[in-house]
Amino acid sequence: MAKVKGFLYGVCFVSSVALNFFFVTNSLFAGYENKQLSWSQRAAAEAEAVASVSCSGHGRAYLDGLIVEGKPVCECNTCYEGPDCSQFLPDCAANAESGDPLFLEPFWMQHAESSAVIVAGWHRMSYVFADHTSISQVLQNHIHKVHSIARNAITKGKYIVFGVGSTQLLSAAVFALSLKSSSLARVFASSPYYPVYKTQTDFFETVHFEFQGDASVMKNTSDSGGNVIEFVTSPNNPDGHLRKAILPSANAIYDRAYYWPHFTAIPAPADEDIMIFTISKLTGRAGSRFGWALVKDKDVYLNMCEYLELAEMGVSRDTQLRALQLLKVVLEGDGSEIFHFAYEKMRDRWEKISQTVSFSKRFTIQEIPPQYCNFFEKIRGPSPAYVWLKCEREEDTNCNDVLGAANIIGRSGRLFNSEDRYVRLSLLKSDDDFNLLLYRLKELVTKENGTETMCC
Ligand code: PMP
Repeated sequence: MAKVKGFLYGVCFVSSVALNFFFVTNSLFAGYENKQLSWSQRAAAEAEAVASVSCSGHGRAYLDGLIVEGKPVCECNTCYEGPDCSQFLPDCAANAESGDPLFLEPFWMQHAESSAVIVAGWHRMSYVFADHTSISQVLQNHIHKVHSIARNAITKGKYIVFGVGSTQLLSAAVFALSLKSSSLARVFASSPYYPVYKTQTDFFETVHFEFQGDASVMKNTSDSGGNVIEFVTSPNNPDGHLRKAILPSANAIYDRAYYWPHFTAIPAPADEDIMIFTISKLTGRAGSRFGWALVKDKDVYLNMCEYLELAEMGVSRDTQLRALQLLKVVLEGDGSEIFHFAYEKMRDRWEKISQTVSFSKRFTIQEIPPQYCNFFEKIRGPSPAYVWLKCEREEDTNCNDVLGAANIIGRSGRLFNSEDRYVRLSLLKSDDDFNLLLYRLKELVTKENGTETMCC
């Protein structure tokens, strides 16, 4: 018995010495390792540590997110909660309200390595670049290349202006065009139109310009003189149609946010006098707040630059670095990967929604005909960013209420200067958002007329 006891004590003693040795050397070694890390390795290790936090595929931890008990906190997708976002909230509404382009998040997860940026504390501290401008020449060159690969715009002979998102450039363009004459510039857009044209123009209204509403109403009046500015969204938000200016004497601002193979056929490269693009809809990185305008006229360009200079002193150099890295990834290989990825995803979403709505008599959605695409070099079907849904029943005058009762949140037609019989549903959000939207729409269509009308 004494021998057995002695043996057990011996085993415990040796194990304890071994464990202590392991922990002591391990912590010493870790300390040594940390000291050996360079600044960029330390930054990379920190980024990797946050990226590796598991949020069950329904959320994400961020470098600048909350830290609780030394651990980065998961920020959950809508309708998920819990420390690791694993709990689905069954009564949660499908929120298809905003145009947040999270559908591209999986693309950037697949390109984690090439899209990462490590920025030193001393990166471009100055107000200006070495050439005394506030615009990165290298980023400009990359923008030219992306357009030539997407075959969606002619950049030759155009000036480039950078903005804090295209939102700022829309305003800069109105400002610049309004200076073309001393009389009040009247600003129009064809309904249904992106609401920001009105809200922003109203908000920044000066003695030089004023928002006056629907371009098609203006077209039918004889009063078409003076300085007229027309916003043309092509493809259009909300209905995805390719549009042209309808006011013959207007200075047109072409909002080309969605003119990428992701969302539309590209019948020909756009070549208008003012074209505005955004990294939000090209790469999905709306949070980076970066857009650019291609401008033909030198005076308009200079006036837009003046606006940007007064408002911001140019776009943040950190943002420009981020945008450059994104475009480098976009241009990797033959430069077509992101366009194929995004098109497939948007087309798949559109087909699923179209198929679901095809079983309904109560709802219809916009029709977008197949068209030849300059990028894919073939005729292709639709893949729009939004569904423009119409409630067909006479009594369903407020379509958003109808959807709301089915736990679906959309954006009312009224906001687009259209009827409340229409609702815009976003197809741009995360897979979680889209899957729930599809599920709730299917439920709604199935319940139509109180019978099971939907197959498969
Ligand atoms: N134009 C249109 C038509 C849009 O839909 C949006 C975003 N929803 C913008 C411009 C603004 O984009 P950002 O400011 O993110 O570049």
